[in-house]
Amino acid sequence: MADIPAVSRLNSRVRRLVAPNPGVMTGPGTNTYLLGTDEIAVLDPGPEIPEHIEAILREAGDRIRWIVCTHTHPDHSPAWQAIAEASGAQLIGASAGDDMFQDSTFRPAADVRHDDVLQTPEFTLRAVHTPGHVGNHFCYFLEQEKMLFAGDHIMNGSTVVIIPPSGDMKAYIESLQLLLQYPLQTIAPGHGEIIEDPVAAVEWLVDHRLQRESKVIDKLKILNKASLEELVKLVYDDVDKSLHKMATLSLTAHLLKLKQESRARSNETGDTWELTGS
Ligand SMILES: [Zn+2]
Repeated sequence: MADIPAVSRLNSRVRRLVAPNPGVMTGPGTNTYLLGTDEIAVLDPGPEIPEHIEAILREAGDRIRWIVCTHTHPDHSPAWQAIAEASGAQLIGASAGDDMFQDSTFRPAADVRHDDVLQTPEFTLRAVHTPGHVGNHFCYFLEQEKMLFAGDHIMNGSTVVIIPPSGDMKAYIESLQLLLQYPLQTIAPGHGEIIEDPVAAVEWLVDHRLQRESKVIDKLKILNKASLEELVKLVYDDVDKSLHKMATLSLTAHLLKLKQESRARSNETGDTWELTGS
């Protein structure tokens, strides 16, 4: 894993800090972005790790006016509270759904909506609703730099896990396709380095998911009727066994997409699946 410096300047409007929470799911750690110089927005404040919160406050000082969150997973939003208390900044984001793995402390005054704009003397930041990874996920488009802050919608170096019911594969693929309507120059992901060729990256991701879906269909054709446990081994045979528990979540998301499209059906408990006849 390449070393990423603690604070880097990405362009005249954006700096990045990497939280000290590296791991299988978080890559080198969560990226926290600081937007602006005189009045600063902290985008994805990150996990509640004191050194990380201190680093943000040291770098942005008393100029923090806004805290913007892509979503409310514990590696992205929980530091909002300490930073809001220290700075009085306004919280921007969408409240957590009541599903697993969410930051229940997250309380914005009002939920952000698609196409909402944060306009400051230094930059314009537009909200893009991108459900899929979770239902309350937003990307943010920095118009002056044509830079998209992608949170966990797009990662660099690892695959986004889609966890039903809030995670939704059909919505995820549609949210990827939506991004192609924006004049993207770079993607600044929640984990990993800047992506310099955004259109190719987004198209690859859509393709990658659809290829995995084809594999689900092919294996179901062979097995006829299969449990999630049987299916995950065959569909994710290219993925290390230690990740099969997480992969089962994505597999379920693929199957639910096929169910929404009337292409597959399950038993009542959702653990045995088969294709519907054409
Ligand atoms: Zn996440």
